Amino acid sequence: MKNIGILGSTGSVGRQSLEVIRKHPDKFNIIFLSANQNVDLLIEQSKEFKPQYICIGDKDKSRKLKSSLDAINILIGENGLIELCTNNDCDIILNAIVGYNGLAPTLKIIESGIDLALSNKESIVQAGHLVMKSKKDKNINIFPVDSEHSALWQCLIGEDESTIKKLILTASGGPFRKLSKEKFNDITKEDALNHPNWDMGNKISIDSATMMNKGFELIEAYWLFEIPVNQIQIVVHPQSIIHSMVEFIDGSIKAQLSEPDMKIPIQFALSYPKRYEIKDIDFSIEKFSKLSFEEVDLDKFKCVKLAYNALQSENSYLTVLNVANDLLVSLFLKDKITFNMIPEYIERAMDKHYSINNPNISEIKKLTKWTKDFIERKINI
Ligand code: MG
Repeated sequence: MKNIGILGSTGSVGRQSLEVIRKHPDKFNIIFLSANQNVDLLIEQSKEFKPQYICIGDKDKSRKLKSSLDAINILIGENGLIELCTNNDCDIILNAIVGYNGLAPTLKIIESGIDLALSNKESIVQAGHLVMKSKKDKNINIFPVDSEHSALWQCLIGEDESTIKKLILTASGGPFRKLSKEKFNDITKEDALNHPNWDMGNKISIDSATMMNKGFELIEAYWLFEIPVNQIQIVVHPQSIIHSMVEFIDGSIKAQLSEPDMKIPIQFALSYPKRYEIKDIDFSIEKFSKLSFEEVDLDKFKCVKLAYNALQSENSYLTVLNVANDLLVSLFLKDKITFNMIPEYIERAMDKHYSINNPNISEIKKLTKWTKDFIERKINI
């Protein structure tokens, strides 16, 4: 039996992780759940999974929780969240928080010596050098939940990492792969939220539409697998069946294939080194008469280019890239800016910031504040 804590249990990955856990009550036990806003779903989940602790981000909503669930310890806000990250009853904590707020919990979980199932890729994007240093100091495991990194990890099990020639990250290309560049500025929120292959939360759907998601995944792969950026290739694979590949020095390429269903990488991150049955996934290779691959159009998907640039510059560029993107995506979701303003203003913030290599946590906080202020000032919101 594995004891599991889930941060962000009401989001898309959080909900799917509970679907996995529901199917294996003899293998997984929930220690805690947390949500930022969605109090009703958190109550429902708590009644079903009976965690020892729950945490709600929004203080105003804690009263409703208390009146509905009197037998459970209720924690509130950022302090409550950080307290959960030190809970040593957990064998593993899944960080499924969305956006740059996931960084402090990621660092706290590692510092507490607890294994981490990482869905919050923004932690690694924003401060990969700190996350990886702390991981080594504490000798814990980070199990990737992202489907591409789960695929790379699965391809690398049993391999000597010095024999890697190249990591090949696949990308669906998102909903605008075939749209001409001239039409990008007319893209609406509704267009962008409609992803062809994956069922995802709002923020990651926009990141997928701009392809910043792939830029983030490039950065995530760079840190998690400690591979130089020139040995990581992004390839567009619209069918989303091959989730990524590893090419080795002898010319062999290993790939991981499956239905595009997040339950597979989520479960593997929680069950590793074991595999458990998932009954409702029915993969038939013959359904796919064609698996195709093409290059990314970096001129059209500027966010991927920005991610490459950030990775080849001082580490502060990565923080600015991440924070600027987070804020700009939320503005786009509120119809305050156009689609093209997302990469445009990320680039401006990156160009203007005072760059430093290996920023510490207080410098990252300063960079975060600077970036938010810069964007708010420039966009005049
Ligand atoms: Mg992914």
